[in-house]
Amino acid sequence: MTSTYRRAMPALAASALIALASGASASPYSVINHAAATSKIKVHALRGGVSMLEGSGGNIGVLVGPEGLFLVDTGIAVSEAKLKTALRGLSRKPLRYAVNTHWHWDHTDGNGWVRRAGAQIIAERHTLDHLKHTIRVEEWEHTFTPVPAKDLPTQAVQAEKLVAFGSDRVRIRPYMPSHTDGDLSVYFEKADVLATGDTFWNGVYPFIDYVGGGGIDGAIKAADANLAMAGPRTIIIPGHGPVANRADAQAFRDMLVTIRGRVAKLKAEGKTLAQAQAARPTADFDAKWGQSIINGQLFTALVYRGV
Ligand SMILES: [Zn+2]
Repeated sequence: MTSTYRRAMPALAASALIALASGASASPYSVINHAAATSKIKVHALRGGVSMLEGSGGNIGVLVGPEGLFLVDTGIAVSEAKLKTALRGLSRKPLRYAVNTHWHWDHTDGNGWVRRAGAQIIAERHTLDHLKHTIRVEEWEHTFTPVPAKDLPTQAVQAEKLVAFGSDRVRIRPYMPSHTDGDLSVYFEKADVLATGDTFWNGVYPFIDYVGGGGIDGAIKAADANLAMAGPRTIIIPGHGPVANRADAQAFRDMLVTIRGRVAKLKAEGKTLAQAQAARPTADFDAKWGQSIINGQLFTALVYRGV
């Protein structure tokens, strides 16, 4: 051990203790992991053998078919035991498929155990690429390192893919770059249930991942695509927030369009980000949409970056 290292040790230890003792200094990444580690998995039975599982980062969709289970997203790895229990409550049959709606860890971190359980994992090709590389996401105060090969998706898609599964058919469709550059929707045709991944956060401001190829204008186009795919009876599994319908997806789209218009006007007038935030362009939306991990100020910054 060098003397430099010895001198550095007490300072490092002290800062680590402060970080542990103070909830305020925990990164959004660790707050979300902690929530997954401590929360129960809620199972919402929807229709036609499809359920939504809530409590492991992003929402998880499940179709139970005669040959086994088809998942949409794999949640956070700390939830493995709880998710396995919840899935066994739906069916004792094996996991056959999972789709990763995009690369974020709160939708893909469970890939390892889902693969070990025997499932094929389908992802858009940019998602596969992101999972292989180191990416720093400043807003989550976390650097994601390459995922081991054994935990990666097994099939990359770049166009619509149809999978026959029991009496249903699953339509997997890429969006344009929106939340990220690798978002997929999953539509269970017979059940008429649409899983949107993080192109739709029901009642919650969304994160927009510019480092991962996303942007506000694409996010609005994806919200329009969701409205085009959903009919009046369609049940929607959003990336985050409660089970939704088309009217909820419309409200989300209208919120994005209104706030984008206000922020673009402020930026066009020459306002800095701080000045745009001070103008509170989200004020009348915050009580409904700003109560989760993305508040009005952060959402304003995410929109400002893309206009
Ligand atoms: Zn996401």
